[in-house]
Amino acid sequence: MAKKTVLITGGAGFLGSHLCDRFIARGFKVIAVDNLITGAQRNIVHLSRHKDFKFIRHDISRPLKVAGGVDYVLHFASPASPVDYGNHPIATLQAGAQGTQNALDMARAKKATFLLASTSEVYGDPLVHPQKENYWGNVNPTGPRSVYDEAKRFAEALTFAYHRVHRVNVKIARIFNTYGPRMQIKDGRVVPNFIDQILHKRPLTVYGNGRQTRSFCYVDDLVDGITKLLFSKLRGPVNVGSPREFTILEFARLVKKTYDPHARIVFMPLPKDDPKQRRPDITLARRTLGWQPKVPLEKGIQMTMDWFTRHYDH
Ligand code: UDP
Repeated sequence: MAKKTVLITGGAGFLGSHLCDRFIARGFKVIAVDNLITGAQRNIVHLSRHKDFKFIRHDISRPLKVAGGVDYVLHFASPASPVDYGNHPIATLQAGAQGTQNALDMARAKKATFLLASTSEVYGDPLVHPQKENYWGNVNPTGPRSVYDEAKRFAEALTFAYHRVHRVNVKIARIFNTYGPRMQIKDGRVVPNFIDQILHKRPLTVYGNGRQTRSFCYVDDLVDGITKLLFSKLRGPVNVGSPREFTILEFARLVKKTYDPHARIVFMPLPKDDPKQRRPDITLARRTLGWQPKVPLEKGIQMTMDWFTRHYDH
């Protein structure tokens, strides 16, 4: 049987590169598309000689044509950390708007299944807890996070419009905080920040009073959830994330206790519109995909710490 082809936008990014690995391991042909503004070639360099892997350096907010068949289009291209999308606000809006449209046009032209990487940020600073897929969210439309939040909300709307108008087979995953190897150490997110601070013996920086909550999912679990969704009948949107919720201060204390009991915790200003609480209700993913995260936070953080220790020169 001919191999199926999957095209992954953002294929050199954190999640995209793990998806490339998974699809290569499962015997697919993989085309990774990335403009490398926040992705990095080092994330996919180990695949560069693989006969079924191809990298195209391209900004998906401009139209893209590829030769041959494509069976699946996974749209993962976008700056995704608050610091990164704060540094690239217009590129983030473009990745969500024109980028999503170009990826949908590709899926339509190739009669491929399309999967959108959406986000828990569509719920904004949620007034409902935990967040279920039928919650419409509480987003500041002009604040500093709006470039990401509204881009992804627009991307979800466009994805459903392509389904309704052009009958494209679409799927939407709402991805909650995910961590693991290949995050950029300087992307400003809490997991790489704390790891960087531990490795350099600097104080752990907690923003605000640290009572805001997040639920962290290890990247391998996330990739399992995405592949299950892709090959299921479910269209979504579906939450993919960990239901184990921590306050950021609890998380800092856990990192301190595990890696350096002498580490100091310092408090810094809370960024504007930082969501106060976030935890996915994953009933839909559990029931329809038979999916839930397996890797405990302590183990996932250890694997991430090991990776950063090996890959960065301290
Ligand atoms: N945060 C923190 N210290 C840091 C980085 C982040 O306390 O060094 C907090 C941040 O204010 C937020 C949470 O950790 O409440 C998660 O932030 P992150 O940027 O990882 O992801 P977000 O969920 O905000 O997109």
